[in-house]
Amino acid sequence: MSTFQAPKGTYDLLPPNSATYLAVREAISGPLKNSGYGYIETPGFENVELFARGVGESTDIVTKEMYAFETKGGDKLALRPEGTASVLRAALEANLHKGGNLPVKLWYSGSYYRYERPQKGRYRHFSQVGAEAIGTEDPALDAELIILADQAYRSLGLRNFRILLNSLGDKECRPVYRAALQDFLRGLDLDDDTRRRVDINPLRVLDDKRDAVQRQLTGAPMLRDYLCEACKAYHEQVRELLTAAGVGFEDDEKLVRGLDYYTRTTFEFVHDGLGSQSAVGGGGRYDGLSEMIGGPALPSVGWALGVDRTVLALEAEGIVLDIPAATAVYAVPLGEEARRVLFGTVTALRRAGVATDFAYGGKGLKNAMKSANRSGARLALVAGERDLADGVVQLKDLESGEQTPVALDAVVDEITRKLG
Ligand code: AMP
Repeated sequence: MSTFQAPKGTYDLLPPNSATYLAVREAISGPLKNSGYGYIETPGFENVELFARGVGESTDIVTKEMYAFETKGGDKLALRPEGTASVLRAALEANLHKGGNLPVKLWYSGSYYRYERPQKGRYRHFSQVGAEAIGTEDPALDAELIILADQAYRSLGLRNFRILLNSLGDKECRPVYRAALQDFLRGLDLDDDTRRRVDINPLRVLDDKRDAVQRQLTGAPMLRDYLCEACKAYHEQVRELLTAAGVGFEDDEKLVRGLDYYTRTTFEFVHDGLGSQSAVGGGGRYDGLSEMIGGPALPSVGWALGVDRTVLALEAEGIVLDIPAATAVYAVPLGEEARRVLFGTVTALRRAGVATDFAYGGKGLKNAMKSANRSGARLALVAGERDLADGVVQLKDLESGEQTPVALDAVVDEITRKLG
C-alpha cells in the first residue's frame, strides 16, 4: 500500500468490477442516443454563482455540500454538484437554442462532487448519466424522458424499482400554494433551521425525513388542491402517455426533490433494495431555470441517473451483467525467437480487431497458461522453437483443451474464422 488513500467518501473503480460501471453507462445512454439526444461534455467546475443561482441558494447542495474554492487568479469556482445548470449554461453560451430547432436534446455522463456525509450509496464523488431536453413545453417530452429511463433500467434487468411522480405547479399556482403552506408550517413546533427553511423553501419541509416533523404534517395543504387548470391538464397528459406506454408509476404528492429549479413534472426512480439511499435517479421540468441564469424563457425537462446506485441496485437484485471477456486470444511465447514472432502475430490480430493479450516478462509456460485462463480468453496461441522451425504455432482452445498446429501465415485468418 502507498502512503496515500482515496479521499474520504470516494472509491476507485477497478477491474473487473469497473466493467459493470461502463456497461451501466452504456445501458443508460443507449436509449438516449437512439432518441435524438446528442452528447455534451462540460468542464468539471464552473463559476460558483451558476450553481448558487441555478440549483438554489436554499438547497443543501449549495449551502452545505459544494466544493467551492477561489483560484490563484481570484475566480470563485465550484466542482460541479450536478449537471443541469452546466448543460443549460453551455447550450445558452453556444446559442444552441437559436435557429428554431427546439427542443435541444442533450445527454451527458460524468463525475459530480458533493460534500455529503458518506454512507453506502452516498459518496462525495459519484457518477451520473443525464439527459436534458431544452426549449419546449410538451408533456410528450416529459413522458419520453421517463420512458427512456425506464427502458434503460429494464435493459439492465432491473425490476424492483418504482417511479414516483408529482407536479410542482408553475409560476401561477405555486406561489399561492407556497403562501398557504407557509401559513400552515408557521403554526407548527419546529427547530430554528426548519423555520428558516419555511421562510426560504417551504416545500422542502414536506420532504423532511424526521418523524417529529412528519407527524406534524398531517393536514398540511397539498399542492394538488392548488394546481391551476393548465398544470393539471399538463400533468394528466404526462400520466396518460406513461400509462399508454405501459410504464407504471405512483403519484407521490410529497415528492419535491432537493433542487429549487423544478416546476410541474417531477419524478424520482427509487429502488427497494437500497435502504435509505433508495433514489437511483430523478429529474423533472425546470421551466424557469434559463431565466434564473440570465437566459431567455426556455421551458425544459431532464433527469440524472446515478451510476453508483444503479450498480448497487444490480447487486441488490443479484444481477450479474453478461460482459464479454476483454481478451479473446492470449499469446504465450516460449523463448526469445518465439517472443519476437508471436509479438508480431499479436499486433496483426489486434489490427484485425481481435482482442489479444500477450504473456510479457518471459513467464514460464505454467505461469503464462495461468494468466491466459485468468484473462478469460477463449484461445491461447503457444509457440516454441520447434513450432517456429515447422512454420506453425499451436492454437489451444482453452475450454476444450484441444490443441492444433496452424501455419504461421494463416493464423490471423484461422482465429478470426474460429471466433466468428
Ligand atoms: P440529484 O442530482 O440529487 O437529483 O441526484 C440524481 C441521482 O444521482 C440520484 O438519484 C442518485 O442516484 C445520484 N446521486 C446523487 N447524489 C449522490 C451521492 N452523493 N452519491 C451517490 N449517488 C448520488
